[in-house]
Amino acid sequence: MKLIMLGAPGAGKGTQAQILSDKYGIPTISTGAIIRGAIKNETPTGKAAKIYIDRGELVPDDVVIDIIKERLDEDDCKNGFILDGFPRTITQAKALDAMGVEIDKVLDIEVDDGLIIERLSGRRECSSCGATYHIKNNPSQKGEDCERCGAKLVSRADDNPETIKSRLDVYHSQTEPLIAFYKEKGNLAEVSGEGTVEQISEIALKALEA
Ligand code: AMP
Repeated sequence: MKLIMLGAPGAGKGTQAQILSDKYGIPTISTGAIIRGAIKNETPTGKAAKIYIDRGELVPDDVVIDIIKERLDEDDCKNGFILDGFPRTITQAKALDAMGVEIDKVLDIEVDDGLIIERLSGRRECSSCGATYHIKNNPSQKGEDCERCGAKLVSRADDNPETIKSRLDVYHSQTEPLIAFYKEKGNLAEVSGEGTVEQISEIALKALEA
């Protein structure tokens, strides 16, 4: 199973990817998480990417495409994977095609901008394993610690009102055109991302297995 999660920041891609990843036993590959790791480790890629992430802009295509190429070459991707946050531009989608990657389904999670803002402001992320939570809609059973690994939960630096606005603008102008791109290929499954985590995952699973 090779899946792409599409949708605005905060649509629930990461949360649903986590559930699907557990169900199918395949890894989730989040370019955002890889880039945040590179920034934390102060690698050359991390240093170059930080300026874009901080402004809520996209990291240049060539940088992200190289990251994905390297990651998809790893052994754990042999039986499938879930791409969370890649591709985000038509150029990236075409690069994926050029790598010979055949995607089974593209799950597009649709959420209104107003709800996105509320979700991102309440989002928390594990500082160690990257699992995501929401203070109201999807709280950790361990309070301020991660249910999975016990590390501290934190707010992402780019989940502040100003950066959220530019990330949404970037989504509408650069990423949304991918919906038509994959619709034309015939492997798009559209689901509403407005509801509880459980409701959405039930609808998502039905859409994927249809
Ligand atoms: P995410 O964790 O998916 O919300 O990504 C956080 C940030 O990482 C984005 O706002 C971008 O700056 C950068 N990023 C993640 N994935 C990509 C991508 N596929 N193309 C360009 N920039 C990306």
